[in-house]
Amino acid sequence: MTDAKKTEKGAVALREEEILKFWNENDIFNKSVEKEAPQGDYFFYDGPPFATGSPHYGHILTSTIKDVVPRYQTMRGYRVERQWGWDCHGLPLENIVEKKLNISGREDILKIGVKKFNDTCREEIAQVSGEWERLIPRLGRWADMKNPYRTMDTTFMESEWWAFKQLHDKGLIYEDYRSMHICPRCETTLAQSEVSEGYKDIKDLAVTAKFHLKPEQEFGDGKYKTKETAFILAWTTTPWTLPGNVALAVGKDIRYTSLRIKGISELLIVASERIEELFKDQEIEIVHNDMVGSDLVGLEYEPPFNSYSGDDTLESKENAWKVYAADFVNTEDGTGIVHIAPAFGADDLLMAQNENLPILKHVGMNGIVVPEVVELAGLSVKPIDDHQSTDVEVVKFLAKKGILFAKEKYEHSYPHCWRCDTPLINYATSSWFVAVEKVKSDLLKYAEDINWTPKHIKKGRWGKWLEGARDWSVSRQRFWANTIPVWRCKKCLEEDVFGSIKELEEKSGTLVTDLHKDVVDEVVYACACGGDMYRVPDVLDTWFNSGSVPFASYHYPFENKEKVDTRIPANFIAEGTDQTRAWFYYQHVLIGAIFGKAAFKNVIVNGMALAEDGKKMSKKLKNYPDPTLMIDTYGADAMRLYMLSSPVVRAEDFRFSEKEIAPVASKVMGRLVNVHSFYSLYKDEIAHEPLSDSTNVLDRWIIARTLELHAEVTSGMDNYELDKATRPLADFVDDLSTWYLRRSRDRLKSDDTEDVKAALQTIRWVLRKYAKICAPFTPFIADWLWQQVMRNDDPESVHLANWCSVKESDKDVLSNMKTVREVVSSALEARASVGIKVRQPLQTLTVSSDLLSVVDDELIQLIKDEINVKEVVVARIGSDVALDTV
Ligand SMILES: [Zn+2]
Ligand SMILES: [Zn+2]
Repeated sequence: MTDAKKTEKGAVALREEEILKFWNENDIFNKSVEKEAPQGDYFFYDGPPFATGSPHYGHILTSTIKDVVPRYQTMRGYRVERQWGWDCHGLPLENIVEKKLNISGREDILKIGVKKFNDTCREEIAQVSGEWERLIPRLGRWADMKNPYRTMDTTFMESEWWAFKQLHDKGLIYEDYRSMHICPRCETTLAQSEVSEGYKDIKDLAVTAKFHLKPEQEFGDGKYKTKETAFILAWTTTPWTLPGNVALAVGKDIRYTSLRIKGISELLIVASERIEELFKDQEIEIVHNDMVGSDLVGLEYEPPFNSYSGDDTLESKENAWKVYAADFVNTEDGTGIVHIAPAFGADDLLMAQNENLPILKHVGMNGIVVPEVVELAGLSVKPIDDHQSTDVEVVKFLAKKGILFAKEKYEHSYPHCWRCDTPLINYATSSWFVAVEKVKSDLLKYAEDINWTPKHIKKGRWGKWLEGARDWSVSRQRFWANTIPVWRCKKCLEEDVFGSIKELEEKSGTLVTDLHKDVVDEVVYACACGGDMYRVPDVLDTWFNSGSVPFASYHYPFENKEKVDTRIPANFIAEGTDQTRAWFYYQHVLIGAIFGKAAFKNVIVNGMALAEDGKKMSKKLKNYPDPTLMIDTYGADAMRLYMLSSPVVRAEDFRFSEKEIAPVASKVMGRLVNVHSFYSLYKDEIAHEPLSDSTNVLDRWIIARTLELHAEVTSGMDNYELDKATRPLADFVDDLSTWYLRRSRDRLKSDDTEDVKAALQTIRWVLRKYAKICAPFTPFIADWLWQQVMRNDDPESVHLANWCSVKESDKDVLSNMKTVREVVSSALEARASVGIKVRQPLQTLTVSSDLLSVVDDELIQLIKDEINVKEVVVARIGSDVALDTV
């Protein structure tokens, strides 16, 4: 296809646009929501896409899934509201705004002021969505985009405050000082799920450092004594944490050895099991090999960096730079002795809390080394462009000081910021948590009844994540987000938690119209003690926003109380696999903890749409076709059918290929249009209605096939197996076009008016029925077809029609026709093998009686016509068929 042709819209696209216009002009979507719903409500929540992003194939895919199921359920007699939503908060937008304002990082934002920053975020959000509002309807997706919920709306945010207070009142909110993963560029903590998405293999520099033991220390119950030059060796993969060292940890029962390298007077202590690995190229002399970890406990050493050792104001300094015992020490790697920097590791922090060690934060939350560490001051510890650069400086320093034992390249899986790709660091910081572990057993119980497609996610990706769920850190140190509704007295530390605007207004005497940081941080009021109450500065994790969608989108409980109480759990949600640990999970946590039930009953998880070469779709590489071009060329119906019949609707990744859409467009949509065109040639000759009472075998067969299709699609949809529901559609159109219509052409041209009428009635009945069956999947062609063949008393759009109940199909005619087609195919093969064309008539076809057991004149006639033989004989023969070629 030439480029010039590609830019022209195909006939398919023009037909679809006509239908779209018809829907808009006649308000068909709203009519479908408002129509009588004898089955009641069917609840669907739409996970909000990020407002400033552009729609891509991932969205097209989930959008299609999110469209098919509500359309189907509407036809089944349910009322399915479909409110669109926008995710408006968080880092992606903050990053855009930082660029727009030509600033970078937290300090710059504070310099220009949170108000100006947030106001720019507000402006930026107001501009989005044009691309979405064009593409989503053009895909055939019905959603109420005119009245969307937005996570930045005050109503939405107030519901989240309510949720926070609910959790707080249930004892499920707490503040703690913990080791968290932070992104030094974004200067904020990240949630467990965000961290787990960003692991990449990188090479780091690992060092083994020598920690100089102070001389003249007796240890091991006086059995040993340190001399002038004794060292303990410890290994670390994060050399940049060494200035924060306050302790060394040994295993209480691990065996340790002191030794010398031949010719060197220094005494070195390591775990006995590690000697071979550490000294493989050196000759050594063992001094003592009978020590255990507990003998070493209490030994004092000189810190490798002495940035803090002279600081007498350091709290708990007397406990620092000593050897302690800890359970987490092992001899699998390193030296069997662990360097402890409590500000930069989870085990380290716990140990510091247990042993009352000082916590040295020699690195700020921005990842920059503080001035106190003169040797490294101002360096970034894990810069994105060269993550080893500071570690190299540390190695140089250790070497110069004579305390570097070894260095090596070390490859490991390391977490990176999902948003900006900066390597994360472990950082001890104060954070607010939702106590998920406290309610985990309930959450597991609520999850039992959730129906997952594909099934394996329930016990696999989702189930395992839920079982391993940890407390959720919900506070972030950012700006454009919902706020943590906690005010604290600077003087007596008394706290107020607010669950509504009204509560805050009453307590503070201030009118509150917006809940963003720039507004509520200005609300200060007096504490009973005489001090001032200020809001704690943190904001809420954006997952708290999207997890609150089921109730916050309705401003619950301030409005719509009864409605929301019945809307939970949702009947159906759908998103990609990446949301298993994200949106699915956070909804489940919030709804489970607050409402005491599951958030949803049925969920379809889709895989990733990859480029044709199996790589990730990349705007930069342009390795995938523009979706608008695909729609203009092949139609949205073809794109939908192509995606829905692929394994991507059961969480498997698939390769998007233009080569594969093309045949869907021609073989399904194209053939369907051809069937209709043929019907149109004859339809005005005899008055007829869509009826299914013909006695002709071809008619009876296609009617049975239609009923069979209807049953298959219904069962697939009822089980939320969209591929199983979709695939039979194409097979059916193939049967309709290449067998039924081909064999019926002559009937329509004949003089037998009764038979012509029967054929016309059947075709019209089949097309009308098919329009309904395919309506959820290929909504455009369905409505187009419907308008051509509908009855006078039918609703104006197929999408306002009702799904029929499943009827028994005539199994005999189905199986007989199957046999006939097998006979035909064998006979055609036989013809081909002897090189006699079909148009040359032959005398006799003999068919094995094993193959054709029922001898029916009409069926025999079909075979005769198709094979072009005068006679068909059924007999006992060795092969399936035998052709008389004489
Ligand atoms: Zn980041
Ligand atoms: Zn107070």
